[in-house]
Amino acid sequence: MNTRSAQADKRFAVVGAGISGIAAAWELHNAGYQVDLLEQDDVAGGRFGIARLGDRPVMMGGKNLGKKYSALRKFLAQTGDPKLEPFGINTSRVVDGELLTIDSKQSPLQRLAGLRRMAPLTDLAKLFNLARQVRSREENRFLGSQAFTKIAAASDHKPLSDHFGSRIVHNMFRAMTVRMNGAEPDEVYLGTFGTNLTMIMDTYDQLTDSIDPVIAALSKQITIKTGSRVQRLVVRDGSVTGLEISERGGPVTEHPYDGVVIAAPAYAAAEIVKADLPALAGLLLEVRYFPAAVVLVEYDRPVFGMDVRAVVMDDGPCSNAGVYGIHDLHIVRYTFSGRHARPTPSPEQLEAWIDRAEEQLLSLLAARGVRRVRSVAKVWEAAYCAYVPFHGSFLDDVRARVGTVGGLALAGDYLRGAPIESCFRSGTEAAEALLR
Ligand SMILES: Cc1cc2nc3c(=O)[nH]c(=O)nc-3n(C[C@H](O)[C@H](O)[C@H](O)COP(=O)(O)OP(=O)(O)OC[C@H]3O[C@@H](n4cnc5c(N)ncnc54)[C@H](O)[C@@H]3O)c2cc1C
Repeated sequence: MNTRSAQADKRFAVVGAGISGIAAAWELHNAGYQVDLLEQDDVAGGRFGIARLGDRPVMMGGKNLGKKYSALRKFLAQTGDPKLEPFGINTSRVVDGELLTIDSKQSPLQRLAGLRRMAPLTDLAKLFNLARQVRSREENRFLGSQAFTKIAAASDHKPLSDHFGSRIVHNMFRAMTVRMNGAEPDEVYLGTFGTNLTMIMDTYDQLTDSIDPVIAALSKQITIKTGSRVQRLVVRDGSVTGLEISERGGPVTEHPYDGVVIAAPAYAAAEIVKADLPALAGLLLEVRYFPAAVVLVEYDRPVFGMDVRAVVMDDGPCSNAGVYGIHDLHIVRYTFSGRHARPTPSPEQLEAWIDRAEEQLLSLLAARGVRRVRSVAKVWEAAYCAYVPFHGSFLDDVRARVGTVGGLALAGDYLRGAPIESCFRSGTEAAEALLR
């Protein structure tokens, strides 16, 4: 039997059709294997949060793609090369009663002057030192690097907020951790902070026509089975032999597979492995996730201008309000996350939160008389991954447990980081591990 047909005889499953699972399935498919990409929801995409605002396809979840997202961008180029538009970095906050803006188009000197107003020099120096580590080696942009595992060993007995003064924590770090982890600075650790710094050291584009065309192109090459909820990983004699799956809410049946990538958030992966691998499930349940609600409101005229396109808020459930896209100054994306936005709201409560945030925003921007045209909302119980302290050691433990089972690999936001690029890389690496 030649290698090609030996490959074609093997059948792999990838659980979860978010970007981590898409990457794993793509890698296995390109290596010549049959792959089923299994997704419990009716649509693929996971936390891209595919939705519609009127007729327009929009993304309620992860949508900003950094210039440094090299693996993801290569994949996009291979799956139809969808149109990208610049999003940049533009964020404002009220400091000492004044709206202070940081924008990727500002000169380094202008940006430095803005930063200087937000934090004392001693803390900025500490921050630049960490940023230098992120810039110096690519691996430091992702979870589990040697440098940040070392930093964690020395620091992670205390949260991030305890390592810096309150001014920088309030004016800079809160926006970064709430935005990327849904967590307050006292709920995350220095050992994972490199991934947050990576976020502010990049500039961004977004997909003009959402991720839909990419998923449509992918589904022509790979079998994507939506409405397929995986209940259990089946392990016999130390190796994966298949999955128990319920299709479209029907009875649970066993399906044979030669190998499985579980590309779901840690708590969901724990649920799948807990019957056969309880110790691994226990480890995965340590990873913390925090909720968020995202609401897009389209107005009858522009709310933002080109100079101020997003405002960070601190004193209520709305943590950030910004334009949906650089050409959509009339569409505001309100994000409700962080401690003030817990627990997740009822529909009535969310409505009250939107009213309050809208009132604050319109008064801050002096945008009077604008009217809502339409809106769309999405609430996630577990939107953002906030990792664990001593994350590098946690990853070693996970790897050791997974290594005892033949035909199993894991992918997801808790392995390399929450950014889409990190999830994509975790998927590729999981597929490579399975093929090894
Ligand atoms: C509001 C928000 C904004 C964000 N903004 C950005 C951004 O601008 N840029 C950026 O880089 N990142 C951003 N992120 C982060 C990024 O979007 C996510 O980390 C990433 O999309 C997660 O991908 P994933 O494939 O690991 O997980 P998911 O997208 O959650 O995919 C996992 C999939 O597994 C499925 N699943 C779970 N259990 C089972 C089961 N038992 N059987 C079958 N299927 C199952 C789920 O339904 C889901 O579809 C944002 C996240 C959120 C929530």
